[in-house]
Amino acid sequence: MQPSDQVIVIGAGPVGLCLALALAQHDVRVCLIEALGDDNFLDQIPRAGTNHPATLEMFDRIGLYAKIEPRGIIAPVFHYWDRAEQALVAAFDHAYLKDDTRFPYVLQCERIKIVEEALAMAKAQPNIDLRMETTFLGFSQDADGVTARVTDAAGEEATIAGRYIVSGEGARSIIRKDLDIEFEGFTYADRTLNIEVAYDFRRHGYAERNYISDPVEWSNLFHWKGPPDRWRVHFPTRPEETEEALQRPEGLQARLQNFLPKAGGYEICGSNLYTVHQRVAKRFRAGRAILAGDSAHVNSPIGAMGMNSGIHDAFNLADKLVRILRAEADERELDRYERQRRHVAIKHTQAQTMRNKRLLAEQDPAVRKRNNDELRRTAEDRKLARAFLLRSSLIESLREAEQIA
Ligand SMILES: Cc1cc2nc3c(=O)[nH]c(=O)nc-3n(C[C@H](O)[C@H](O)[C@H](O)COP(=O)(O)OP(=O)(O)OC[C@H]3O[C@@H](n4cnc5c(N)ncnc54)[C@H](O)[C@@H]3O)c2cc1C
Repeated sequence: MQPSDQVIVIGAGPVGLCLALALAQHDVRVCLIEALGDDNFLDQIPRAGTNHPATLEMFDRIGLYAKIEPRGIIAPVFHYWDRAEQALVAAFDHAYLKDDTRFPYVLQCERIKIVEEALAMAKAQPNIDLRMETTFLGFSQDADGVTARVTDAAGEEATIAGRYIVSGEGARSIIRKDLDIEFEGFTYADRTLNIEVAYDFRRHGYAERNYISDPVEWSNLFHWKGPPDRWRVHFPTRPEETEEALQRPEGLQARLQNFLPKAGGYEICGSNLYTVHQRVAKRFRAGRAILAGDSAHVNSPIGAMGMNSGIHDAFNLADKLVRILRAEADERELDRYERQRRHVAIKHTQAQTMRNKRLLAEQDPAVRKRNNDELRRTAEDRKLARAFLLRSSLIESLREAEQIA
């Protein structure tokens, strides 16, 4: 294979790294471009961390699962709580999926650990030409290939040639903007406050992963492996509150105390504030340029679907690019990638995360009661619970995508 036959992947996030590893393991040469350097790669803010069963199967295909499992927490059960009533509404057990997946649980393992392990694998993979501290600037394409423009680690402008270019750049994708592809959707007015705290909430009956509804202040509560172990609590904020005011230590402490009073105060390990978008790119492909992960779709993190569905994009795309580069399929496969993954982004990821937010923030007492009753009924009925878990874990989305020609 000539160097110009390589696939250029922009971004060593979870999506870019999984794509690069999946391609390289099928003897496709990859040039993987990452703006961060080795010195600051691990300084990224905490983000995703719940990995669904189907994603674990994909990690296993590239040898990544064995590396991250010891760094995460196996969590078969997740909870819905009603904060106003201080009651556990429903517990869903992934054991109901034991005939659907080899991994009937989620793995609570943060994005940063995943990219750290995957980056180490990429460095050891001879088919990957990894360029750290290299910033992608733009690209051009013609009938035969693509040329990416970058600033390399020495600060020099350089060009890199390849057959295809994939944007794993995240939500601010230059490729998407250069192609003038509309990022359809909206941005929520309220930002989400994320507080990391060293305290074991299991002593109050919580599971490793909890969705807590409340008409005033819904929240999510997740457990991460340490040392020291940490829990992440998400809270909504009012649009008029400033970032500085929201992150004052006394304010963070007060929010946690209001959530669950604790003598002596909480040990807060960190906090950050993020804006939540619901957007899907109008197209996932233009010629030899393809979008995957957050560059193609962003959504609310309630339900843990952003990173997971992005990784599903990566594996879907890797299979197609391998067959195209081996001349076993033609480029129409890339249109199928767009049809399949755009369908999932709109009908599953976006629809479910919007529904999840509505469910947690519901104001109307009658609707809240109806929602809680339905969740309870669903969790208690084996058949309904399995159907619910197939949807929430994105297995249904993958099965449905397979049916799309
Ligand atoms: C607070 C929060 C919590 C979340 N929780 C979850 C969760 O529990 N589960 C879940 O599934 N999802 C979650 N998400 C979403 C998840 O983090 C993203 O969907 C996921 O990280 C997207 O992966 P990606 O590889 O597409 O992009 P990114 O993770 O954004 O990675 C992009 C990479 O590209 C690099 N890059 C960008 N521009 C350039 C350039 N010009 N040149 C070179 N390199 C470049 C960046 O440095 C970065 O390394 C959460 C998001 C947030 C904000």
